Amino acid sequence: MDGLMQNVPLTVDRIIDHAAAWHGAREVVSRDAAGHVSRSTYAAIHADARRVSNALAAAGIAPGDRIATMGWNSSRHLAAWYGAAGMGVVLHTLNPRLFLEQITYIVNHAGDRLLIADPSTADLVAQLLPQVPSIERVIFFCDRATLPHTDYPAIAFDDWIADKPAEFAWGGFDENAACGLCYTSGTTGNPKGVLYSHRSNYLHALMTLQRDALALSARDTVLLVVPMYHANAWGVVYSAPAVGAKLVLPGQRMDGESIYNLIEQEGVTYSAAVPTVWQMLLQYVQENGKRFSTLQRVTIGGSACPESIIRTFRDDYGVDVIQGWGMTETSPLGTVSVPNASVAAKPADEQMAYKLKQGRLLCGLEMKLVDDAGARLPHDGRTPGRLMVKGPTIASGYFGGDGGDVLDAEGFFDTGDVATIDGEGYMHITDRAKDVVKSGGEWISSIEIENIAMGHPSVANAAVVGIAHPKWDERPILLCQLLPGARADGDDLRAWLDGRIARWWMPDDVLFVDEIPLGPTGKIDKKAIRAGLTGYTLPFEVTR
Ligand code: ADP
Repeated sequence: MDGLMQNVPLTVDRIIDHAAAWHGAREVVSRDAAGHVSRSTYAAIHADARRVSNALAAAGIAPGDRIATMGWNSSRHLAAWYGAAGMGVVLHTLNPRLFLEQITYIVNHAGDRLLIADPSTADLVAQLLPQVPSIERVIFFCDRATLPHTDYPAIAFDDWIADKPAEFAWGGFDENAACGLCYTSGTTGNPKGVLYSHRSNYLHALMTLQRDALALSARDTVLLVVPMYHANAWGVVYSAPAVGAKLVLPGQRMDGESIYNLIEQEGVTYSAAVPTVWQMLLQYVQENGKRFSTLQRVTIGGSACPESIIRTFRDDYGVDVIQGWGMTETSPLGTVSVPNASVAAKPADEQMAYKLKQGRLLCGLEMKLVDDAGARLPHDGRTPGRLMVKGPTIASGYFGGDGGDVLDAEGFFDTGDVATIDGEGYMHITDRAKDVVKSGGEWISSIEIENIAMGHPSVANAAVVGIAHPKWDERPILLCQLLPGARADGDDLRAWLDGRIARWWMPDDVLFVDEIPLGPTGKIDKKAIRAGLTGYTLPFEVTR
């Protein structure tokens, strides 16, 4: 017997409809590369989004077609986002920091018909266009005055939508229709496309709005640092308008000073970003003796959050750090590290161990740990296994069938992460399967050593990779990037790690580098580190 409730499809156009109707005057603030700040509202974004739908329809773009954006976080990007989604067009977000070959591959694979790009990418677009025959038209996120001079035809976004009506009949399609497309950077082989549905994005927004998740509210001012091309900007493009939070979109500039100024000028209460962004911000704030007057909490995710960041935010600035874990394939948020009742009852210092874990599962999802044969492993906080997840916000396969069948017999998706789960239900990532250092048949957590090394007062960033070893298969070595002007040598680092990690985890070598290479989403690029270490040998002779 069916229930007697209305069967309204969960499509994301309803989110911006809601924001325009009930939080219409709430501000959306956007800063461009030149530092110019423009102000809009959810009502105005909603109207522009409908103009975008009309412009897309006029260009012959139909539901199910893919269009690409390659832009920073901005109100124009937000209007394009909802304008495409509202009419059932699939918005494919491209990361402008990818290499030309990767972007070429991705655009061809997706079959994007139209490209809306940031003016700063005009040269990249010039190189791209001859190689991507599916792109029929280029639009730049700008007005006529700032339209770049190009050898190829292009139009300013503002001109493109200027004469279009702000009315368009959105929706009318199934909630399982595709909504957005985002390619993962591809740890092995080519990037793969994750194809979100309206339903998955809608549910993800609701899941992340729980008090024990991102907990956004109508009273928040949200600085969206995590880019819109990075897994739905962790869903905040949906959750912030859903609750009517003021949204601040920072554009391209991510340095500590730019981010700090925006936080203070706009009265930001909440923000989300990868650890490297917070590290730059804290460094700026500390060096310049600044304080935060409105910031209350930040979500850190994308890679493990070093303890030093959590402590500095909490102890020196009264800002709560909430760690979240997820991946492009999980929409992305899967777990959040907030105290449950028994952790909340522990002394503050014991709670830190839980803050450093990736956290507890959001309602609606399932997770398990398995061994290489797929057998379930215990949740004892000690036994690492492959982390598998399942739920309505988890990918069931990749666009175009790439990668084949990605689910196990129980319908779980293999995250490629290695984790433990403790008795309180806290999941802890110990590594990515491909980054695990396997020494003498046992796993060494590169992430844990990195986090402890980053707690050293002279260290700005640290990375651990495994080096082939004739006796132990692999041994860890530690690469450190020191803070400007700071000094430390290998013995200092070894002394710092001694007693904080198991003795057999001690890196066999400590190397100092000017800069730890970061990938296009701001994470440590271990592929690049390994490539840079070709020919490196451990600093002693080993006999079997
Ligand atoms: P990629 O960086 O490969 O393009 P994602 O952004 O989807 O793709 O990255 C997802 C991965 O990032 C996860 O599988 C996990 O390894 C890592 N990750 C995300 N959040 C955390 C976290 N809080 N702690 C540790 N690792 C994390």
